[in-house]
Amino acid sequence: MRYAKHVSTKVTPQSQPIPGTAQVQNSAGGYTYQVDEWTRLTRFLILGSEGGTYYASEQKLTLQNAKGVMKCLDKDGKRAVDEIVKVSVEGRAVKQDPALFAFALACRHKDLETRQYARTMLSKVARIGTHLFHFADSMNELGGWGQGVKRLISRWYTQADAGELAYQLVKYPSRDGWSHRDLLRKTHPKVDDVRSEMFKWATSKEAYDWKDTVPAKDDPMARLWARDTAMKLKVSNKAELKTLLNLITDYRLPRECIPTEALNEPEVWEALLVDMPVHALVRNLGKLTSVGVLKPLSAAEKKALSLLGDFDRLKKARLHPLNVLVALNTYRQGHGAKGSLKWKPVQRIVDALDEAFYATFKTIEPANKRMLLGIDVSGSMGSPELSGMTGISPRVAAAVMAMVSARSEPQYYFFAFTHKFMHLPISANMRLDQVIEIVDRNDFGRTDCAVPMLCAMEMKFEVDVFAVYTDNETWAGSIHPSQALRQYRQKMGIAAKQVVVGMTATDFTIADPDDAGTMDVAGFDSSAPAVIADFARG
Ligand code: CA
Repeated sequence: MRYAKHVSTKVTPQSQPIPGTAQVQNSAGGYTYQVDEWTRLTRFLILGSEGGTYYASEQKLTLQNAKGVMKCLDKDGKRAVDEIVKVSVEGRAVKQDPALFAFALACRHKDLETRQYARTMLSKVARIGTHLFHFADSMNELGGWGQGVKRLISRWYTQADAGELAYQLVKYPSRDGWSHRDLLRKTHPKVDDVRSEMFKWATSKEAYDWKDTVPAKDDPMARLWARDTAMKLKVSNKAELKTLLNLITDYRLPRECIPTEALNEPEVWEALLVDMPVHALVRNLGKLTSVGVLKPLSAAEKKALSLLGDFDRLKKARLHPLNVLVALNTYRQGHGAKGSLKWKPVQRIVDALDEAFYATFKTIEPANKRMLLGIDVSGSMGSPELSGMTGISPRVAAAVMAMVSARSEPQYYFFAFTHKFMHLPISANMRLDQVIEIVDRNDFGRTDCAVPMLCAMEMKFEVDVFAVYTDNETWAGSIHPSQALRQYRQKMGIAAKQVVVGMTATDFTIADPDDAGTMDVAGFDSSAPAVIADFARG
């Protein structure tokens, strides 16, 4: 008998590790490599653990990732903090929560230098009130606040510009069970200017007493006054509605300052739209349409189209492509995920969201390489929702991520697979809503991530780069993906590269870490398509 056949490193079933490697069993029972702790950190910062994966509960995945973050902090605290801050500041993740949680771990780290270094970065990561609340809550859950943390949070308030602080107080009053009142009362920031009055406004138990005085328009207190005044108005009264509209316009009040009943008034939305931040716009497109403000040929349509078409502004506002995708997917359906809100979608808005989606990724330099975009459409890619984003499965996310590369490369091929090739009739010319429809109806199946390489070999496709979008839960093949890649290179005489786009925050990867022709990137990192193109170019 040929003894060596059974310990061959060239062909090994995925149910066994490749001899001589450090492969581990993934959650589906197959064997894969593990990404290093830094790649895992990035995956967590980008994707988070909300909702868990098809295989792992949210709690289990979060614990694993917390351990992973600690491993990075232990190994090189400064590097870990820098990575957390970088992902946050560059707006690469759809949600800030993973970064804020990791940042809280850094702020509590046992190493004094790491802790102190992290603490100088708070205002970079906690840019708005909501972030600060999430940080405060994380610190609390992780064991409470010491004097140092109180000083840190106090400094967030004392270093804020008065006008900006007024906006934060009215726009982000509370989250995660924390409010400005809680934080200010716990930390007692001391300032000797108008902000001390603003702190009083935020902390007083009863409504702040304005003593019948109206602050001057340029007084930062004016916005707080306008909010208090607006909240008391009854829009059933014509005169009060008029007053509300004037307050919105004169004091640039955000939606959070409007009494709930007033949010059914078209004129209120028209007034809000004038200064509406783009994040708020994409969240409220359905509402704007349902109240009749946003309709074909309307001024609101013109305004919305110009906001969504201002790509520099979208980038500056750190609008994340996944936010745009969720907005598009919800808006096109004409009804909200929960509740009874219904509307008739305006097609030009769907088109604008489609364009905006691509514009919110980091700019790509085409690689001009032959790219096979391998999309894992197996059962485990069908749920749960990616990063807790409504209606977006890892499978849909994978396909639309691949669309970004397809739109920038002259030669691409969409290749969907389970344990075999799956026909996926999508192309770069399609709109995202069409892509979502097609991908969502795809059949389930077992998972074999070697299929893209094996099929390409069989069909003699000349591929420079295999980009594989997957959760790395491969198990069903008779050869490992890394071995299939080596076979492909040898048979085709092409030094093909492989990029693994990890769609879940696990540490599994099909990419052999000892193979310099492979790379791991985190799925739905807004810089991923640019990184893929750079790597493809060489
Ligand atoms: Ca699977």
